[in-house]
Amino acid sequence: MDGPEACACRHAQKVARISRQLAERQSTRPLVLKKRAVSHSVPKARDLKYSDEKLDISDLNEILELDVAKRTCVAESGVTFVDLVAATMRHGLVPIIVPELTGITVGGAVAGCSIESMSFKHGGFHDTCLEYEVVSGRGEVLTCTPENEHRLVFQMVHGAFGTLGIITRLKFKLVPALPFVKVSYQKHGSLGSFKAAIWRHFQERDVDFMDGIIHSASEYVLSTGRFVDSAPYTSRYDWVKVYYQSTRERAEDYLRTPDYFFRYDRGVTHVFPRTAVGRFFLGKFIGSSQLLRLGEKLRWLLSADKPTIILDVFIPFSKVDEFFEWYRDEFQFFPLWCVPYRRVRDYEWLSDRIFRGLKDELFLDLAIYGMKQRGPKNYHKVMEDKLLGLGGIKTLIATNFYSEEDFWKTWNKGNYELVKARTDPGNVFRTLYAKTCLTARGLPS
Ligand SMILES: Cc1cc2nc3c(=O)[nH]c(=O)nc-3n(C[C@H](O)[C@H](O)[C@H](O)COP(=O)(O)OP(=O)(O)OC[C@H]3O[C@@H](n4cnc5c(N)ncnc54)[C@H](O)[C@@H]3O)c2cc1C
Repeated sequence: MDGPEACACRHAQKVARISRQLAERQSTRPLVLKKRAVSHSVPKARDLKYSDEKLDISDLNEILELDVAKRTCVAESGVTFVDLVAATMRHGLVPIIVPELTGITVGGAVAGCSIESMSFKHGGFHDTCLEYEVVSGRGEVLTCTPENEHRLVFQMVHGAFGTLGIITRLKFKLVPALPFVKVSYQKHGSLGSFKAAIWRHFQERDVDFMDGIIHSASEYVLSTGRFVDSAPYTSRYDWVKVYYQSTRERAEDYLRTPDYFFRYDRGVTHVFPRTAVGRFFLGKFIGSSQLLRLGEKLRWLLSADKPTIILDVFIPFSKVDEFFEWYRDEFQFFPLWCVPYRRVRDYEWLSDRIFRGLKDELFLDLAIYGMKQRGPKNYHKVMEDKLLGLGGIKTLIATNFYSEEDFWKTWNKGNYELVKARTDPGNVFRTLYAKTCLTARGLPS
């Protein structure tokens, strides 16, 4: 890595190029970003983004500054978490939230969403960020912090899926890390005892990491981890062995810290190839990035009307029993990945309706990967309708069927429109509703 001045100079040139392209642009066609890393939005058969005009930001891949004493990092938005972890670990530090797939980028984690097993203390990756540089639809370069005049932009670019501008640079916090993680697997036979254990660790903050796998309605595994200095052995799950299955079989495990972060990279609960023989021959070469690229290339094979269910939902902790009782009967699909998530603030991008009467400080993020749709129902829509009644939130990485009226019952229309008018009045990047609910399904906006 060059010195900070040289990196800053190179970065300024890249941003000037992006800004100029936007300022001089004559076309009125919608614009999407071309990154170097693959996208981690679920590939969709008729997504119009593939035919939209592209703005190339694939050179935004540098870590610009790593301040070991202050435990902060400044990076361009296309830096992937696998590269970031490798760089910060050299100084005994890691990002506070490391999404579990190697190719997720820091910019994508903010523009989309990001959760992982430190979320029960720290929320999402965006909750650990201190500053963003955002290029508006007209090419203006804004430095946004939670305190300055662009504070609403700072909050709203999270989860806006690039519709409020391009994040070109981020500053975020780091935490000390040790070389290994020891994971313990607590087995629970009921939702009640699983939840009680989550609540205990949430209150006591006595572990570094916490997530879980719900293998069935009567088999729950809570995985708690701690950084450790040394390990009697280490396991890897990037070839034949499948991490989520190991949580059922083992009482404890040790992983190198980077291997812990990316333990689900072969698929969280939807691992490919499915058989051990298939993984023996192909597993070494097919990580999440390769699989998603393949999914994008072969998207014409995917069902457009009843896509396979790949989604995750945030459920307020006090509503988990009610949700689960319904889910068990309606979906009858396991395993589920479960990530406890602390509500760090009353997020500006969510509607007042979501927060009205909501006392929960803790949510459970439940991820359903790979459920084939059966019968006449559209289970995406079934889930959306249930969440509207329950006050839960579905992340928009999935295929979305919301009507516009229902959509804004969850997302904050007033705040979104305020920022949109400031950063993309010409609608260069489409609106959030159009991009995530219409054009992603091939519908006109
Ligand atoms: C199968 C699957 C598994 C997943 N598993 C996990 C997981 O384990 N943990 C987790 O935290 N998350 C997970 N995710 C969610 C993932 O973190 C988010 O989808 C995230 O937004 C992906 O980041 P990306 O870098 O791939 O961005 P992309 O998918 O390329 O982009 C996401 C959106 O953000 C926009 N965008 C990207 N970069 C920028 C930028 N620099 N400026 C403005 N807008 C931008 C894009 O246009 C797009 O609309 C998963 C998603 C999928 C599909």
